[in-house]
Amino acid sequence: MLDLHVHLLGHNDREATRENIRAYLDVATQRGLKEIGFADHDYYWEQMNCPLIEEVAKDYPHLKVRIGLEAEYRPHEEERIKDLLAQYPFDFVIGSVHEFDGWIFDIPEEEHAHYQKNADEFYTRYFEVVTLAAKSGLFTTIGHLDLIKVFGARPTKDILTLADETLTTVADQGLVLEVNTNGRYKPVQEFYPERRLMVEIQRRGIEFTLGSDAHSSENVGRDLEEAGRILSQIGVQTVVGFSRFDKVHYSLD
Ligand SMILES: [Zn+2]
Ligand SMILES: [Zn+2]
Repeated sequence: MLDLHVHLLGHNDREATRENIRAYLDVATQRGLKEIGFADHDYYWEQMNCPLIEEVAKDYPHLKVRIGLEAEYRPHEEERIKDLLAQYPFDFVIGSVHEFDGWIFDIPEEEHAHYQKNADEFYTRYFEVVTLAAKSGLFTTIGHLDLIKVFGARPTKDILTLADETLTTVADQGLVLEVNTNGRYKPVQEFYPERRLMVEIQRRGIEFTLGSDAHSSENVGRDLEEAGRILSQIGVQTVVGFSRFDKVHYSLD
């Protein structure tokens, strides 16, 4: 099992200290992970300490410790992301959309807005921006594909129609999608993406990775066994890790 989406710095309420790094790697070890990937938010990049992670990782030879990034994708900021990616030889990069057209939609203060706005419209616009992220060529992975459901507001249009162009682009670009278990602890109370999307992703031959989106060490690996079981049930045989942008496959059995 692997967890390719953990935040060492949390919401910038933790530091990249030896002690904190060890806490993440200890939980990963206890939960039997083979690979863990730090994917801190790009806006905390200055606070990261990659040389220290590499040093501490030497004490965990059974665990592949990867360093990635969760980059906020905004259509007019591709150059900014490109510059950031040139600063370190990342193993993987998650492109995520938490915001579009100036609306940071996944923060608790915005929950009411999800019920005031037209869900068909904001789902459509969300997936348009995710499609641009997939087209950008900047990422190995698209984060929490249907994050827009975070507060449980649902469109009347079919989600497979809404996500169709995004999935076509993801497949064309050879990108990987994650099952992100953190959604269970949000108002929507389900993994990202929902099961029907997982089935469609599998049908199209797109590969999966797994991520807890842990913002503290105790949540590393949370629910990933279950996520792996769901993927097995729908016919997925392997999940993907990354070493310097190269895919590394892990069997789900
Ligand atoms: Zn995210
Ligand atoms: Zn995240």
